[in-house]
Amino acid sequence: MRSRLVSNCAAVGSPAGLKCYNRFVAAPKEILAKTVLSRSGIGDYSVNCYVGCMHGCVYCYARFMRKFTDHAEPWGKFLDVKINAPLVLSNEVRRKKRGRVFVSSVCDGWQPIEMRYKLTRQCVRILVEAGFHTSILTKSKLVRRDFDILQGYQNCDVGCTLTTTDESLRFRIEPGASPTWERIRVLEEACERGIKAWTFLGPFLPGLTDTDESLDRLMGAIAPLPLEHVCADKLNMRPGVWGSIIRFLNKYDSRMIDWYEKLFFDEETHEQYRQSLVARLQAAASTHGVTEKLRIIC
Ligand code: SF4
Repeated sequence: MRSRLVSNCAAVGSPAGLKCYNRFVAAPKEILAKTVLSRSGIGDYSVNCYVGCMHGCVYCYARFMRKFTDHAEPWGKFLDVKINAPLVLSNEVRRKKRGRVFVSSVCDGWQPIEMRYKLTRQCVRILVEAGFHTSILTKSKLVRRDFDILQGYQNCDVGCTLTTTDESLRFRIEPGASPTWERIRVLEEACERGIKAWTFLGPFLPGLTDTDESLDRLMGAIAPLPLEHVCADKLNMRPGVWGSIIRFLNKYDSRMIDWYEKLFFDEETHEQYRQSLVARLQAAASTHGVTEKLRIIC
């Protein structure tokens, strides 16, 4: 497949992004979807207008999706665009039972390519207007573009994933996503515009984004916002994640690999870690008055 230089800087739009987010990726492939409103364990349905994600998070759980494609490139280096997604969805919402829709479950619907295609924007409009509860989770400030659609609707909410306030670390683990401060601004603006907002904290990288100091800063950053709730979870070793974590640690600090291996694959050690993380999340939430809103998943 022909490769070309894709600059996502304008979409990412941050100083760090402007400097750094130039990367070689395969040219996006336009495909036709048969279904868009898919049954999901998260909510009743999920909608994904893209297969692949250019945010490139080292812990991405969606990498298992590659096996359903004909791509030889690794996860994060290819992108399929379901160009007929709004058309298919507009037919599906007429005949499927109303329910909660998660946007998006195996890609970020507001990754940089969405600037060009506006597929997620069109799908969100179709969903809220058809009376489906639309729950958004993103790491992109681009979602602000679509607040004009969401404003005034009660059957929708916007969440942003946050992992760390350390921008240099954030860039290494989520290179294509918006900086954390931009995501916090997204949540602020959603609240200002009367759109229900929430946050997902995690997944955390032990010793890096889950330190007491890091959790305290993260909780302190979201504490002033009138969020509906604050979810938090540990890192889970879903298929393909461990290989990606090893590749990351090899570049970051290879001395951490053995420790990570014990932490995630020794049952007793993992349980101790889980309990410690839960206690430290609760302590940080208590310090910043967020306890009532905190929902720890792990
Ligand atoms: S934004 Fe989500 S789907 Fe995209 S790479 Fe990151 S974790 Fe994966």
